Amino acid sequence: MTKYLCIFLTLISSLLLAETEKTLSIIKPDAVQAQNIGKILSKFEENGLKIVAMRMLKLTPERISQFYAEHKDRPFYPALVEFMSSGPIVAIVLKGEDAIAKNRQLMGATDPTKATQGTLRALFAQSTTKNAVHGSDSPQSAEREISFFFTPAEIY
Ligand code: GDP
Repeated sequence: MTKYLCIFLTLISSLLLAETEKTLSIIKPDAVQAQNIGKILSKFEENGLKIVAMRMLKLTPERISQFYAEHKDRPFYPALVEFMSSGPIVAIVLKGEDAIAKNRQLMGATDPTKATQGTLRALFAQSTTKNAVHGSDSPQSAEREISFFFTPAEIY
């Protein structure tokens, strides 16, 4: 009887501790151009991430420079800004249990040659710059990046 009570309490506490988070995903210009939007959205939904906001837009180099400001001194920054402003992107807010880590896991490594089989970058990326998707890497980034694209009223 005590054993079953322990199992029950463990289940209840893990349910209560599992955190529902929001994270920002971007389908980058290469994946939009290659008509992979639908396949990528399906992966999110199949893996328990709910789409609660979404918009297609094309960013100016100035705007994308602000988004990636933390990388401004890196050698790849000019190519990144040029690529990210080269065509439309899809900005998405995903919601779910441990959404930030779950999305990062689904994305795979930055360099697609190092990405685990079955991840979005292994499936859809062309190179380290043209790597199909972006995902917030911490709760602080998620908050900043979500508010970069969406007002609270646009998130459902
Ligand atoms: P992410 O979180 O996996 O997207 O990686 P980072 O935040 O470190 O970098 C942002 C983006 O810059 C990446 O998704 C790539 O598009 C690009 N990038 C990062 N590192 C490199 C690099 O070493 N070479 C090139 N060409 N691009 C890079």
